[in-house]
Amino acid sequence: MIDRDAILEKYRLERDKRLRPEGNAQYVRLATHFPQMLGDPYTPRKERAPVTDHVRFAMVGGGFAGLCTGARLAQAGITNFRLIDAGGDVGGTWYWNRYPGAQCDTASIIYMPLLEETGHIPTEKYAHAPEIQGQAKKIAQTFNLYEKALFHTEVNSCTWDDVKQVWVIETDRGDHFTADFVGIGTGPLNVPKLPGIPGIETFKGHQFHTSRWDYGYTGGSAEGAPMERLAGKRVAIIGTGATAVQCVPHLARDSGELFVVQRTPSSVDVRANEPIDPDWFKSIATPGWQTRWLENFAGNVGMGGASEDWVKDGWTDLSRRIRSRVMSLPPSEWNPENMMKAWEMADHEKMEEIRTRAVTVVEDRKTGEALQAWYRQLCKRPCFHDQYLQAFNRPSVTLVHTHGKGVERIDETGLWVDGDHYEVDCIIHSTGFEVGTPTEERTGFDPIGKGGHKLSAAWSDGMRTLHGLNSAGFPNLFLVQFAQAANFIVNVPHNWMETGTSIAAIVRHMTDHGLKTMDVDEKAQEDWVKLLLSGPGMMINSPDCTPGYYNNEGQPMDDRAKYAVGYPAGPNAFFSYMRGWRSDGQFKGLRFD
Ligand code: NDP
Repeated sequence: MIDRDAILEKYRLERDKRLRPEGNAQYVRLATHFPQMLGDPYTPRKERAPVTDHVRFAMVGGGFAGLCTGARLAQAGITNFRLIDAGGDVGGTWYWNRYPGAQCDTASIIYMPLLEETGHIPTEKYAHAPEIQGQAKKIAQTFNLYEKALFHTEVNSCTWDDVKQVWVIETDRGDHFTADFVGIGTGPLNVPKLPGIPGIETFKGHQFHTSRWDYGYTGGSAEGAPMERLAGKRVAIIGTGATAVQCVPHLARDSGELFVVQRTPSSVDVRANEPIDPDWFKSIATPGWQTRWLENFAGNVGMGGASEDWVKDGWTDLSRRIRSRVMSLPPSEWNPENMMKAWEMADHEKMEEIRTRAVTVVEDRKTGEALQAWYRQLCKRPCFHDQYLQAFNRPSVTLVHTHGKGVERIDETGLWVDGDHYEVDCIIHSTGFEVGTPTEERTGFDPIGKGGHKLSAAWSDGMRTLHGLNSAGFPNLFLVQFAQAANFIVNVPHNWMETGTSIAAIVRHMTDHGLKTMDVDEKAQEDWVKLLLSGPGMMINSPDCTPGYYNNEGQPMDDRAKYAVGYPAGPNAFFSYMRGWRSDGQFKGLRFD
């Protein structure tokens, strides 16, 4: 029997322990404080001459957003495409995040984009990072996206030339080139952050961030070879988010001693990974299969009302439970308040199961209890793993539970928590990525549109777009991101495949009709934003949630945050709307010259 009041009271108490008045200011930026930790440990940087040519389409970001855009453009016959990326190859987040155990949390066959186009058959239900980065490379090869790509290159400025009607792009490698169109797909979690723990710079041992894994120090490889150089070493990992949940089992296996420093426990549900049987795969892989699977998944988790669940995982389970609770209400009781209560009860049941799992799997009762997550499941990124909790049963692994307070300070030899000193050789920061800092600081440039106006100024009262894709005053610019569009964060690449198709349709249309520029009609943009704001808004950034990057660290949201919403009827409805929008050849809301 669920005691709702007791659970809510416990949630409140745990949140209050973790609240910090400094909000996002508790973190420090690597670029300013630890630039040496930001380098690329994976690919040596090659010297090259600056580029000064003209391309049809320049894409900032070589992750799945850029790759899907390039692929869809190539399919539409638009070549002369240039990817620009700070990394040494394509892959974006999968280029940088090579920590041991990294794998997708959404089923491979819908998470890995363009499988049908590349012919790749995922090997596991949840593929590991090298295979996912391999798919990124395969997309680049299949669609010839390497030819003009610039790696280890960061864009410094991107300016619309009102006279020549092209974008002028300048980079940190001295490049100065032009493009008819620009796409920006830099991803939401691209700038690693460190905790601003007093004394962090005084540590004399080795420290690095999980997104720059130092295999030179640890030994081993992203492909899973044991990190033999950690044998006999005392290692601390700070953070217990989705990244730590995946790499802790590997650190536990290979380190002499491991200290897992926890501020807020993650909810860790069953993973149940398994190999994909190629014969089964062939049986489903009839033409158009990936789109059908994508829609089935989105129809289960994103208000779609799908009747069957093909993917069957933690995401669809939670959504289906919520829906069945809501649907079990008698029609006379269908009102927003009752529906929210039904949702809440489904969540409480799920979280009770996950909390029970923690104390069942972990042999030491106190440790198991400390690993229990006390918040609603979607307050924080849900995690799934079948070796994380088990790692705490090893005698060499210690959970350093900080009761929401975090590490007090770091000194030359280790860290301090609650008056105890933990002497370590190495500190691994699994402390996530900047969210909530100004976009132009994270991307390193602020697009300058018509009349010299900056995008940050145009959005000073909040984001303004048509379909999340184009913004008035920024001709021929495409924003490859999900806010004011599907906002489908459970399966991010699904957004990119659809967005790429829309971009390709617009550019194809302009090419066929000899149109030079495209801009957004202000009224259409205003109407679109109004429509989005009429929806329920974001459900996950509630201030009563435990603090984290989902809710601005528990601090009041800037009024502008309310504009980062999705299409009110959900992702599948948005994708379907966009299919109609681009196929009638009118591209309503855009103005062409
Ligand atoms: P998170 O931001 O989720 O986690 C950061 C961790 O660092 C938290 O546990 C945080 O505690 C902790 N922390 C921060 N400061 C301190 C401090 N001073 N003392 C102690 N602990 C501290 O980062 P992740 O890299 O884990 O994940 C980021 C996102 O990346 C995920 O939410 C997910 O979207 C994505 N991701 C996706 C994966 C996938 O799909 N397979 C895998 C990994 C990541 P607290 O919780 O209290 O803030």
